[in-house]
Amino acid sequence: MIRVFKKIKVIIPSEPCTLKNMPNDWECVGNCCYFGNAGALVGLAANQGVISPDRGKTSVTQHWPTFYMEDKPSFGAFNAERAQKAVCAFSAGPMLARNGAVLDIIQEMQESHFSSYNPHEKKAQRAIGITAEGYIADGIWTNASLYEVAREMLMAGCVSAMKMDSGGSSGRIYKGVLEGHSVRLLPAAVAYREEIGGAKMKVYIDPGHGGKDPGGSGHGILEKDVVLDVALRLQKELRRYNCEIRLSRTTDIYKSLDDRVAEANNWKADLFLSIHSNAHANPNVNGYEDYTYPTVGARTSEIRKVIHSNLAPIWIAEGRQNLGMKTANFQVLRDTVMPAVLVENGYLTNEADARLISDPEMRQRLAIALSKGVAQALGLVMVEPTELEARVARLEELVDKMKVFWREV
Ligand SMILES: [Zn+2]
Repeated sequence: MIRVFKKIKVIIPSEPCTLKNMPNDWECVGNCCYFGNAGALVGLAANQGVISPDRGKTSVTQHWPTFYMEDKPSFGAFNAERAQKAVCAFSAGPMLARNGAVLDIIQEMQESHFSSYNPHEKKAQRAIGITAEGYIADGIWTNASLYEVAREMLMAGCVSAMKMDSGGSSGRIYKGVLEGHSVRLLPAAVAYREEIGGAKMKVYIDPGHGGKDPGGSGHGILEKDVVLDVALRLQKELRRYNCEIRLSRTTDIYKSLDDRVAEANNWKADLFLSIHSNAHANPNVNGYEDYTYPTVGARTSEIRKVIHSNLAPIWIAEGRQNLGMKTANFQVLRDTVMPAVLVENGYLTNEADARLISDPEMRQRLAIALSKGVAQALGLVMVEPTELEARVARLEELVDKMKVFWREV
């Protein structure tokens, strides 16, 4: 599968580590160069002036083609000085395609001093390419020949492409999901962000109750009101991330559980997050808890754990109880087809909890914690301030045009 990104960097960890343990906060990370048995780098790897020593046979590796990210990405000859000045660079190879055409790969292997093997042999492969627009394509295959890889890179819009490490050491982690292998220790890796044409993660926020259904109540507070406020604040916070957001309701309306579930399922949400506050006959019961359906998979458990670890500390810091990670047969958790988590922010029937949740500043803190939890759990990328600035600039431009328009009218 080939993914296309705008930005690339090379990660050089202090100690060789597996792909899974690579210090990375970008959308995607994968193997790049060739590696010796002891995790020694074979070839060139450089990032922001930091250059990792080539422990390979330099009489061989100096013939390897090299990817350079400068003002724009390009492939060129091995050149440590050029790599040091680049945003990032790494050597691999052989080249598979150049100028929009598949190359004679056997000839490329000879010219780059690679030991000869059959480029028609199907195996696990990885490749990097550059598109006509100057974006970077990253491909991974479980079973393909190098000629198939070359053709697919061209079909994905690449004008040039280079082979990366193949076989059992080819791996990539995309939004937390491992594709390929993460066994080998890597002294460097390649990371990407700002995917082009990639589907954005969809977050469905479900403020509980509404309209004729007030939910729980206590100390003059209705559940439907406070959970809506938290949800709207969360929506605002999540807009800072590269994701799509939908709410089951944005006003005080009634919506059935069937409708909420159907809406999220039809939209193909990646996460269903239901926001509630609790009530109990015993006014001493207080604190935070969250729920998943009892028989969920590892991904839902992991997402819930991350959300819990962001939200529970807010309540604990206020001296409220952490009632833990629970399971329940709630319809919104049971009938949704995507990971679903329900949070219970405090007990309205408890005086101290009610006082906290009635405070807008507390609701804002909860919304920020929820947004961080969701972003962390789904691997969302924060929208660059420059992009936000660009949006503001476009709006300002539009306002200026309208001013001119009105003057003319
Ligand atoms: Zn509720």
